[in-house]
Amino acid sequence: MKGTKTRSTSARLVKRRVPSGESREYYYHRKGKGGASCAICKCALRAVTRKGPKSSKRPGRIFGGMLCPTCQSIVVVEATRVKDKAKTLEDVDIIYRSYVQGIVK
Ligand SMILES: [Zn+2]
Repeated sequence: MKGTKTRSTSARLVKRRVPSGESREYYYHRKGKGGASCAICKCALRAVTRKGPKSSKRPGRIFGGMLCPTCQSIVVVEATRVKDKAKTLEDVDIIYRSYVQGIVK
């Protein structure tokens, strides 16, 4: 009786030649088709597609294709506050900080 990996369609058989010269069989799990997701909240970015040139694959705004509109607007607002010295970079929530830093600099 073979294991579940050999019967599963989600695992892929790969034959590899090892340094000793013999070939071995490995099973790797296939990666899902998962689309682009927001770097902060991990929600799906529906406007980002795989087809066509890169410039038409994602929204043209700042952090388009990287952050969802909600997270993007938070980052922009926080960056403006830091620019106007209403806040320091240390006061910005740590999950947004690197993106705010990218705008401020
Ligand atoms: Zn988000």
